[in-house]
Amino acid sequence: MKIVLGHGNPKAKIMLIGEAPGKQEVKHGKPFVGPAGKWLDKILKKNKINREKLYITNVVKVKTPGNRRPTEKEIKKWLPILKNEIKKVKPKIIVLLGESASMAVLGEKVRERGKIISKNRIKYLITYHPSAARFTKIRKTIELDIKKVKGVV
Ligand code: URA
Repeated sequence: MKIVLGHGNPKAKIMLIGEAPGKQEVKHGKPFVGPAGKWLDKILKKNKINREKLYITNVVKVKTPGNRRPTEKEIKKWLPILKNEIKKVKPKIIVLLGESASMAVLGEKVRERGKIISKNRIKYLITYHPSAARFTKIRKTIELDIKKVKGVV
């Protein structure tokens, strides 16, 4: 079982949190380098955000069988590591990519998508997971959501 930890600028002002690594992420030992990562790159490029400036990680640090959504038990197991990453990086804003990240970090579903929420001196923005960006309408929504981050940092 190969563990894929977060990657990027250890002093990033913006942290992105996904769900769990897939096959490519396990192969390269980095989050979001497979198909979902390609979509993420397009979204970042559209917003002129340099990926190198970000810290990108996942809720669960191992691939789930068949890339299924992580269970509550799996999320609970990896949560201390995620919290430690947040504590170390101290981002100004955390972008929660999809429901697993939203549930794990804020304990809420995607009810507040697209709004900047403040909690314990950190700002959060919930948006869709980049794997859904293959649907043009969703991709445009993610692009517009992520654009809001630029006003914070
Ligand atoms: N999906 C995720 O949530 N994270 C990755 O690292 C890759 C795909």
